[in-house]
Amino acid sequence: MDSGVCAALAARDTEASAMHISYGQRTEDRERRAFEGICDRLGIGRRLVIRNEALRLVGGSALTDESIAVPEVNGSNKIGSGPIPITYVPFRNAHFLAAAVSWAEVLGAGKVYIGAVEQDSSGYPDCRPAYYRAFNQAVKAGTREGIIEIVTPLIAMRKAEIVKLGLELNAPFDLTWSCYSREDRACGVCESCVLRLRAFAEAGAQDPIPYAEQAAGHRI
Ligand SMILES: [Zn+2]
Repeated sequence: MDSGVCAALAARDTEASAMHISYGQRTEDRERRAFEGICDRLGIGRRLVIRNEALRLVGGSALTDESIAVPEVNGSNKIGSGPIPITYVPFRNAHFLAAAVSWAEVLGAGKVYIGAVEQDSSGYPDCRPAYYRAFNQAVKAGTREGIIEIVTPLIAMRKAEIVKLGLELNAPFDLTWSCYSREDRACGVCESCVLRLRAFAEAGAQDPIPYAEQAAGHRI
């Protein structure tokens, strides 16, 4: 959802290209289909699809290790307030950004957009503003011209605001996929589904994707 809105912003404001990375996550086939559909809808022709083997081999996350269950959100666990959840993929966004900055250098692109969100999200450390400030220093020091900038237009927004922005931009929500555990219908009870459903509810909008069930009485 966040990536889809971020892509809509980039497509509106720039001559955008798009990168997709499969990293052995449970829903990688569904996410890849979402990527192609979103690019088609937004008119993004130049695409790069990458497979990252390191994250799957390293494991340590419920998204990449089949032996670790994806937790369901219930009334007693509050998203984003406790320890970093088991759905965190260790230092994942650094892998994404490294690949995207490499491609940006070759394309001569000046900006790399990423739909990271800090507020009312899962509390992943690689979604914090300080991380992107530090990463931008590394990009400046480690690239040929030192002029590529990673931008995070959604990072300070609440999820409901992202839904509203997406509706204004006519972002392709119907093509996006957020569920951590299922590929046929969204499970409705993983952290990512619950955050998404709550964002649509708070925005007074209907989420257009199909759900298997929706958690009742959850508190986020
Ligand atoms: Zn789900």
